[in-house]
Amino acid sequence: MKITDLKCAILGNNPVIRITTDEGVVGIAGGETYKPYLKPMILFYRDLIVGKDPTDVERVMLGIRRLGAFKPWGTAVSMIEMALWDIAGKVAGVPVYKLLGGKIRDRVRVYNGNIRFPLEGNQPEHYAQAMQKMKDLPERFSIIKQAVAFHDSMYSNVDKFYYGTPVTEGRYPNRGMLTEKGFKHLLKCVEAMADVLDDEVGLALDCGPGMTVGDALKLAKAVEGMNVTWLEDMITGDYTPYVLSDLYLQVTPYTSTAIHTGEQIYLRQNFIELIERKAVNIIGPDPADVGGLAEMKFIAEYADLHGLLFAPHGTGDGLLGLAALVQLSATLPDNYIAFELPSGEPKWWFEILNGIENLIVQDSHIVVPDIPGIGITFNEQETIKYLREDDQGFFDN
Ligand SMILES: [Mg+2]
Repeated sequence: MKITDLKCAILGNNPVIRITTDEGVVGIAGGETYKPYLKPMILFYRDLIVGKDPTDVERVMLGIRRLGAFKPWGTAVSMIEMALWDIAGKVAGVPVYKLLGGKIRDRVRVYNGNIRFPLEGNQPEHYAQAMQKMKDLPERFSIIKQAVAFHDSMYSNVDKFYYGTPVTEGRYPNRGMLTEKGFKHLLKCVEAMADVLDDEVGLALDCGPGMTVGDALKLAKAVEGMNVTWLEDMITGDYTPYVLSDLYLQVTPYTSTAIHTGEQIYLRQNFIELIERKAVNIIGPDPADVGGLAEMKFIAEYADLHGLLFAPHGTGDGLLGLAALVQLSATLPDNYIAFELPSGEPKWWFEILNGIENLIVQDSHIVVPDIPGIGITFNEQETIKYLREDDQGFFDN
C-alpha cells in the first residue's frame, strides 16, 4: 500500500487533512481551531510522505518528525501521524486503540476546559457564576478548568494586578510579579470558584504562563486544601517554545498542590527533564501538537514510571481531535486522569462526521467506540457545503 496524496482544507477554522492511498483507504485528522494559517506548512510535508506505506506508521514518521517544533509548528507532523493511524486501523479492521497496545478502559474520563460561559467581569462573583453554570452542565463534568491570572483577562482588567504593562494584542507573553493586591484578588477568585465546586467537582486553574517562580509557589501553597486539582502553566506553558524545568523545580517539591504543564511541548525528548527530574506532578501534552498518538503513549508510559500523572490538553482540537483522544486515552496507563474535551465550532461540525454521535459525554465519560480507525469519517455530501473555494478538491480521489 502506498500514500498517493496529502490534502488539506480549512473547515470552520480547523486545519483538516486527508491522506489518500492507492488502495482507496483514506485517513483523516484535524488540528486546533486557532490555526487556519497552517495550511501551507501542512502541504510542505506532502512530497515527504507520498509513495510510502502508511501502515508502517513509524517509518513514515521518521522521515518527517524532525521537521517540526513546539506549538504551533508541531501540528502538521502530529496530524499526519494521527491520519496514518486511522489508515492503519482501517486496513487492519480494528480501532486505533488496538494498534496502540489495546484498551485498558471501556470509557474515558474527560474534563471541561471548553464549554465555558463569558465572564461578566473579573470579580470573584463573576468567576463563581461561570463556575456554577459549568457545574450545572448535563455532561456532569468531574473536573472543570478555568483560566485566571495571565491566561485570561485578569492581568489586564484588574487594576494594578502585576508590576508590568499589559499588552492585549496578539500572543504577547505578558509576565511579571503580582502585586499584593493582585495576588489577593486572584486568591479570592479561586476561593469563590472552589466554594461553588465544593468537594464534588475538581477545580483546575490555567494560570499563565507569566507568573514568577515566587508567585507560583505562593499560590500553590495558598490553595493547599482547597480541592484544586492542578495549577497549569504557571511559569512556562502555552506557546512557550522551551521548557525550563529548573524553574518548576523551585515550586513543585515544596507544595502539596499538583503542578501541571506541557501542552506546547513537541516530542518525547523534550519531556525527559520534566519527567526524570519530577519538575511537575502532571503533564498534559496535546496529541495535535506533541507529534501524535504514539508519541503521547510513549510519554504517558515514561511519566508513569516516574510517578507523574497525565491529563492531555485538547480544547481546540475539534471533533477529529476528540475522536483521536478517545482512542488514545483508552490505552493509557493508570496515571491517566482525564483529557480536555474538544468541541465542534461552528456547530455544523456535528453534522458532517459519521460516527460523531457515538462520542457523547455522559457523567464526564465517553464510551470508547469499536469502529475501525479513529472511529469517525467525513460525510462528504454534508462537508462539501462548508469547503472554502480553494479547498474544493479536498474529496477528489
Ligand atoms: Mg492550558
